[in-house]
Amino acid sequence: MLDKKVINLLQKIVGKEHLTTAPEDLLSYSYDATQIMHLPEAVVFPGTAEEIAAILKLANQYHFAVIPRGAGSGMSGGAVPIKGGVVLAMSRLNRILEIDCANMTVLVEPGVVTAELQEAVAKKGLFYPPDPASLSFSSIGGNVAECAGGPRAVKYGVTKDYVLGLEVVLPNGEIIHTGKKTIKRVTGYDLTSLFVGSEGTLGIFTKILLRLLPLPEMRATILLGLPRLSSLPLVLNALLRLPEPLTAIEFIDDLCLECVVSKLPFRLPQVEGLLLLEMDGSKKVVETRQKDLLELLNHLEVKIITTALGEKAKGLWEVRRAISPAVFQLGEKKSSHDIVVPRAKLLPMIERIKALREEYGLPVFCFGHIGDGNLHVNIMYNQGEEEMAQSVTEEVIKAALAFDGTISGEHGIGLTKARFMPWEIEPAALRLMQTLKRTLDPNNILNPGKIFEV
Ligand SMILES: Cc1cc2nc3c(=O)[nH]c(=O)nc-3n(C[C@H](O)[C@H](O)[C@H](O)COP(=O)(O)OP(=O)(O)OC[C@H]3O[C@@H](n4cnc5c(N)ncnc54)[C@H](O)[C@@H]3O)c2cc1C
Repeated sequence: MLDKKVINLLQKIVGKEHLTTAPEDLLSYSYDATQIMHLPEAVVFPGTAEEIAAILKLANQYHFAVIPRGAGSGMSGGAVPIKGGVVLAMSRLNRILEIDCANMTVLVEPGVVTAELQEAVAKKGLFYPPDPASLSFSSIGGNVAECAGGPRAVKYGVTKDYVLGLEVVLPNGEIIHTGKKTIKRVTGYDLTSLFVGSEGTLGIFTKILLRLLPLPEMRATILLGLPRLSSLPLVLNALLRLPEPLTAIEFIDDLCLECVVSKLPFRLPQVEGLLLLEMDGSKKVVETRQKDLLELLNHLEVKIITTALGEKAKGLWEVRRAISPAVFQLGEKKSSHDIVVPRAKLLPMIERIKALREEYGLPVFCFGHIGDGNLHVNIMYNQGEEEMAQSVTEEVIKAALAFDGTISGEHGIGLTKARFMPWEIEPAALRLMQTLKRTLDPNNILNPGKIFEV
């Protein structure tokens, strides 16, 4: 419990106007996209790394939990203050500090919104590729903490591939700097990689140095129908072996499709799934590649539904974005999973998901970044069906692991997957992870209850 004395000390650190205990504010900072809720005891809005350091020192002295929070769009409960304590809202740390065009890097504070960063660097002809579907509201700090991915990961990789360095406040209040503007560096252990994806449990990022690429001139998209799901392995194999990688290969299964079909601006043929492809590059190259790809597709068992070039290419992504709100017609509640399987195991994994739909009589469906084996599996259910949804969850995770896959590709473990950690991680490796956490955070004050159940 935070007593009045601790609240006063916190106010002294951040200033009275940057701390709140008002019930409506506590409620606003009690949940993320999982809708799991737990009230914090206070919310603070620090303005510097030094203030965060002082808060963490206080937390060790008075033993209260500190939960870093970006935009609260996390899909695994990472920012939910499950043990109470203080939510550290990073929204005041929202400046783009430097766009270095010569070195193609950008230095930002963690509260910068992903899309705003992309727009700012695009004005200088530069490109920050990671593109979580939440980019119009997620923060860069949250992206780094979760190692966010997105559709473009097929060609460009995920957040970790762009983080060159970090300023991190450690749980004991020390401030460290990792990495450099250099592209290569092997001086000592790679601490940057340790912190990327650490879900706010090992340190709090206060500055983030990111690598940029030249901005591609043009995009093109192609929407394909799969008349038979069984043709997926051959089609995917052909697409992954193109001499120039596609930017995105997204999948939408039959049940998702039923939910969005009425919103589409074109008629769909009879298909068992959709593939949305994207390519980028210079105008000349993209136009030629699109033509070549259409020619290749004529020899595969697919139906070309529509194609788009340049600005019009953005429109086709509306199909993909329409899924999240549309699926609530299938049930009041959603249990979301973010499994990844080796790409050669995608068809049996999707078939298992369809079989679970029949076995349990619940709407279970999948869509997502099939180009890198990452499927967002969703189970829709209503009040009273929680146990059944839980059983389906376990079956989905078991199947992904049986196919030599992983529990999470980009949403993280947080609260919702913590109990499955021992299902995937062998005991010695799990102990090593817990030893790392204890070494950095012996009092378990930083985001407790996340990744590990304790
Ligand atoms: C509609 C929708 C679509 C989505 N699509 C994608 C997608 O395509 N790909 C994808 O990867 N994710 C996706 N997500 C999930 C989510 O947006 C990402 O995980 C995102 O990176 C979270 O950022 P955030 O700022 O909201 O972080 P939060 O939810 O606030 O926090 C997430 C975690 O980061 C930690 N954290 C936040 N800031 C810091 C910091 N400065 N230092 C240390 N730790 C910190 C928190 O403690 C927490 O553990 C989606 C979510 C929604 C709602």
